Amino acid sequence: MIPAPLCAAPSLAADPWRSDPARILGIRPEVPGVQTYDLEFRDPRVRDAYRFSAGQFNMLYLPGIGEAAISISSDAVTPGVLAHTVRGLGNVTHALARLAVGDEVLLRGPFGRPWPVAELTGRHVIVVGGGLGLASQRTAIYEFARRRDDFASVTVLHGAKTPDGLFFTAEYDAWRAAGIDVRGTVDEPDASWGGPVGLVTDLFATLAIDPTRAAVLCCGPDPMMNAVARAAAAIGIAGKDVYVSLERNMACAVRHCGLCQFGPHFVCQDGPVFAYEKIASLLAVPHL
Ligand SMILES: Cc1cc2nc3c(=O)[nH]c(=O)nc-3n(C[C@H](O)[C@H](O)[C@H](O)COP(=O)(O)OP(=O)(O)OC[C@H]3O[C@@H](n4cnc5c(N)ncnc54)[C@H](O)[C@@H]3O)c2cc1C
Repeated sequence: MIPAPLCAAPSLAADPWRSDPARILGIRPEVPGVQTYDLEFRDPRVRDAYRFSAGQFNMLYLPGIGEAAISISSDAVTPGVLAHTVRGLGNVTHALARLAVGDEVLLRGPFGRPWPVAELTGRHVIVVGGGLGLASQRTAIYEFARRRDDFASVTVLHGAKTPDGLFFTAEYDAWRAAGIDVRGTVDEPDASWGGPVGLVTDLFATLAIDPTRAAVLCCGPDPMMNAVARAAAAIGIAGKDVYVSLERNMACAVRHCGLCQFGPHFVCQDGPVFAYEKIASLLAVPHL
């Protein structure tokens, strides 16, 4: 059990260094090696004050082990329970995987520029997620589903290497029922797979949209995001209408340590969501 803070401040936003204990309410396996953790702040005042927007992330802190940036993957209208979908990769994420329901972590946030959902009204919205990238977009998808009539169309293109790498497939039916065109595609199908085979970029040519009224929200590996921007351009979507969410090693989350510096930008606060044209030249630099 993590001890109660000596002095409980009511607002997280007032102190970005402040971490608050949050209890694990539930753990759901998603795909092999990835689980979703539902977290609830222990202090009801912190819980009530906390708000976030689609595409933002929290810093999950395990004392004595470290802190990791993790996107919030739940619906922003229920900020009392915060989902984080995590791949066991290194120190923090493997330690998290050893915790159980009822254990506590420390959480600070939310951080980062969100997806520009408010600017998308009336447009064709194309969400493109590569593997776990879809976690940073799920909050936005919930909002698009709820406000579907505010958009000309909403399409989710989700790509993975194999069918068991596709995320949130149990929710596809609900998203479709809300009027969202959801398509998963895989590179390597197995016997059970009856959907498209190939890259998400292959699906762009099939989109029945007015490209001058379209916007793309993309999250995945850098080469995929470059390819998606090219595929969008090929059907007439301007670079200014393509948004990408970057993943970089991160430590402070308050543009102080420089670990996430990306050219002149700090991914923690200038991003993680950027207009593609703003960072296209930097994304072309290998390993930046
Ligand atoms: C904005 C943002 C959102 C994110 N959202 C999510 C999310 O929703 N879900 C998610 O799972 N991840 C997410 N990430 C990624 C996550 O923050 C990183 O994977 C983080 O490093 C995990 O922390 P860790 O301590 O478990 O891993 P680390 O111990 O930091 O290890 C991370 C990687 O570095 C390698 N590594 C570690 N130490 C060394 C070393 N000494 N030498 C060489 N390589 C090393 C590891 O093998 C591993 O591949 C996000 C990142 C950002 C920036």
